[in-house]
Amino acid sequence: MVPKDGWQNLLESRKSKSIEFRRREASLLAMAFLGIAFLSVLVSINYQDYPPLLVQILLANDIGLLATVIYYLKTKNLKLCGFITTGIALVLNVLLIYSGGKDDTALYWVMFFPLVAFSILGVKWGSIYTLLLFAISNFLLYVPGYILAEYNSVEMSRFLMAFVCVCTFSFINEYFRSREYSEAKSVTLRYQMDANTDALTGLPNRRFLDSNYLKNIVKEQEHFCIVLADIDKFKRVNDTYGHDIGDEALIHTASVFVDNIRSSDLLCRYGGEEFLFCLPNTELHQATRIAEKLRADLEQTPLNASNGEVLKLTSSFGVASLSKQTFEDALVQADKHLYKSKAEGRNRVTG
Ligand code: GH3
Ligand code: MG
Ligand code: MG
Repeated sequence: MVPKDGWQNLLESRKSKSIEFRRREASLLAMAFLGIAFLSVLVSINYQDYPPLLVQILLANDIGLLATVIYYLKTKNLKLCGFITTGIALVLNVLLIYSGGKDDTALYWVMFFPLVAFSILGVKWGSIYTLLLFAISNFLLYVPGYILAEYNSVEMSRFLMAFVCVCTFSFINEYFRSREYSEAKSVTLRYQMDANTDALTGLPNRRFLDSNYLKNIVKEQEHFCIVLADIDKFKRVNDTYGHDIGDEALIHTASVFVDNIRSSDLLCRYGGEEFLFCLPNTELHQATRIAEKLRADLEQTPLNASNGEVLKLTSSFGVASLSKQTFEDALVQADKHLYKSKAEGRNRVTG
């Protein structure tokens, strides 16, 4: 029995600001800042020697990189800024091959491109950008008449062979690094899921509530209610039919409860036979109505136990709102209300 809501996503989303994200961000910013620095220096030293068109293109790329960094710092859109920055680096490399750069030394610069592309964009897009540059380089170097620079044929063939080596090892490195990363990420997530899940019912447990849910959800809500439920005379189920049937009764109760909540609600196993509902965007009168529905549904849905018995289960409920108190105070109040439900004869809701 797995809860139908997406509480697991919270565990995943908390890991989004991972080291992997920071690695890509560092690659992006390093590329952008180095590009800005080198372009600015090259243009300011050589602007009289370079053809005016080249100066204009280099300056446009310089400004483009600067704008991308500013845009990134504002939006943190790593993917888009990665595409733009690597795209600018690609254009610059093509330009360098075309013009030859200072004394036809352009091919040295082109060599580092695969490292940058894989580091910023990962395996798929890194490969696409690198193959694109490789194809353009081949075209420009071997189809006569398209470039200004004059490379000698030994230099061109050695460059292409070395470029293939750099591409191959950059690809291997990035491919296995990303595989290793996603495997480690899924193992960590699995452990986290296990640690935050109640093994019997499959519901999130109290650890999840304390260390994940409360930190992220509650403070964002205006109307927020909690409902504490405790199965009535549960000890008697264990004593009469044995612990295994008691376990079946817990699984059954959790399943009836889960079927009655919205995807935005959280149901967790709070203790032995106690369950806690967290109901965002819910006012007290609505929460009381939900609890009443839960109570009636459990009462009307007996358990067909594996020993052939049909067990009628009931639960008592205590409801509290967080509108004028902290979560801890609301919990104390819900517990008091639950106690009142028990004292007044069980199988009832107090709000
Ligand atoms: P009340 O109506 O006042 O709540 O009575 P109760 O019998 O439900 O309350 P009590 O706290 O006396 O008993 C709770 C029982 O729940 C005792 C414990 O053995 C049982 N229990 C707690 N966790 C589990 C579990 O995981 N499996 C089983 N089978 N029983 C459990
Ligand atoms: Mg109890
Ligand atoms: Mg009980």
